[in-house]
Amino acid sequence: GREAARAARHQPGATRDGQRVEVAANINRASAAAEALEAGAEGVGLMRTEFLFLERDSVPSEADQEQEYRAMAAALGDRPLIIRTLDIGGDKEVPYLGLAREDNSFLGIRGVRLCFERPDLFVPQLRAIVRVAKDHPNVHVMFPMIATLEDFRRARAMLDEVRTELGAPHIPLGVMIEVPSAALIAEQLAPEVDFFSVGTNDLTQYTLAMDRMHPQLARQTDAMHPAVLRLIGLTVDAAQRHGKWVGVCGGAAGDDVGALVLTGLGVKELSVSTPQVAGVKAALRGRSSAELRDLAARALTQPDAAAVRALVRG
Ligand code: PEP
Ligand code: MG
Repeated sequence: GREAARAARHQPGATRDGQRVEVAANINRASAAAEALEAGAEGVGLMRTEFLFLERDSVPSEADQEQEYRAMAAALGDRPLIIRTLDIGGDKEVPYLGLAREDNSFLGIRGVRLCFERPDLFVPQLRAIVRVAKDHPNVHVMFPMIATLEDFRRARAMLDEVRTELGAPHIPLGVMIEVPSAALIAEQLAPEVDFFSVGTNDLTQYTLAMDRMHPQLARQTDAMHPAVLRLIGLTVDAAQRHGKWVGVCGGAAGDDVGALVLTGLGVKELSVSTPQVAGVKAALRGRSSAELRDLAARALTQPDAAAVRALVRG
């Protein structure tokens, strides 16, 4: 009955044999935190901070941002909160910033690239995050659209400068793996990060060269394609060699097949939309970790995403 369903969604995420997989929610506003926790979310694996910028018609002040991040961190108590720094550009246009038009906006100045061009946006955001992290040790930070080691080091240096200035301790720091080059250099990134979070929406788009918004390509733009899974496998293997963990915050984490295959590849955290939390936990409880490892290994040798889905459903 209702009580049993409630109890089930509040169990920690785990496979049938008890291998832990944290199931978190992707939420952008503190006002959505209570609902996510009620749905069984074990934390927030992706807070897309650009939403603060997209919802209004001028740049949110450092104080406005701090207030929102603080409310989110407080609402989660000691559960993890992963704040992703600004990911503007690509399909996320912010008209009042007056950014130059680009022919290939997904391949242009987006994510951290824009933050390097616009320290007037990035530094106040970092200051707001660091102030909150000083009071809330559950705060983690991650950078979007990292393509090179230099991208990561440059972003980290800016964060370190702000931390020093504000007298803040180390903040758990992650890199989003959403550009194929980042997955391919995961071995070099891993010693320098605390965690990776795979953005399967962009990783799929950039690996298959298929616009994630393209209506005619929608069926093929599937993160279960073995090429994408291999990149995620490389990322997990590199992270494990350095004692780091890998989460997935892209859409693949929230579909049942995706959750199972990703867990089989060694992913330790799945961050999904609030309505998907209970279903992902139930799917994980239905399979053993050994079964999922075997499934993931076989997924890598399939011809395409449809075959992977058939294999897992089979
Ligand atoms: C992703 O690319 O998978 C991701 C989580 O980031 P976004 O969807 O915001 O680009
Ligand atoms: Mg992305």
